[in-house]
Amino acid sequence: MTGVQPIIDVRHVSKVYDRGRRGESGFRAVDNVSLSILKGESYGLVGESGSGKSTTARLIMRLVEKTSGEVLIDGTPIHDLSASALRDFRRKIQIVFQDPLASLNPRLTIGETLADCLRFHGLGTASSRLRAARDILDQVALGSAYAARYPHELSGGQSQRVGIARALILEPKIVVLDEPVSALDVSVQAQILNLLSRLQAERGLTYLFISHDLNVVRHFCDRVGIMQRGA
Ligand code: ADP
Ligand code: MG
Repeated sequence: MTGVQPIIDVRHVSKVYDRGRRGESGFRAVDNVSLSILKGESYGLVGESGSGKSTTARLIMRLVEKTSGEVLIDGTPIHDLSASALRDFRRKIQIVFQDPLASLNPRLTIGETLADCLRFHGLGTASSRLRAARDILDQVALGSAYAARYPHELSGGQSQRVGIARALILEPKIVVLDEPVSALDVSVQAQILNLLSRLQAERGLTYLFISHDLNVVRHFCDRVGIMQRGA
């Protein structure tokens, strides 16, 4: 083995959807993409809407299956993991979406939602999960009292803090941030970016930061890759 092994290694990956969103068959959303990201790095992936950024993120997380190529995480190809290795993989890499509210269950308190992430992975007891939920809410600077709130009671910035808390409660090594500040006001954007920087430093996280805004990415990321029509 030579030098430093990337934590994320995407090698000539393509994704062809059977049917595109406009009904065309064999739509190539990602076309022969390669990129590698080092541990602790913040890698920016920029491109206009529809260029294949989110599909690339989903390929890296194995939320969609590749058509060709290979993705290695920590040196291991992710395409034919055993069931238990896949469970470990699913904890190691987490995602924050543009619109966290859309993926929060409106009938659960924030604390219940966060505790459920741990329950889903068979971690802890009911009381330790609730403690962990309150603790992570402190760490994203919302405060543990927010555990008792419901999603509709939160502002945009507050719900994105919950989105970040939900990603971090499983203590991942890698966080994919898919347009994490694109829906927020500029002043709130800066607060969330500061929070993400602090959490990255504290936890040694590796970030794949996706955005259509080159300025945000230039400011936030160590390196930047550009996507255009899938490539
Ligand atoms: P971005 O995140 O850069 O906006 P996406 O990866 O979401 O781009 O989409 C890239 C292209 O693939 C778009 O043309 C989109 O319509 C298409 N696409 C994305 N997901 C699917 C899907 N599940 N089925 C068919 N086409 C898709
Ligand atoms: Mg997208």
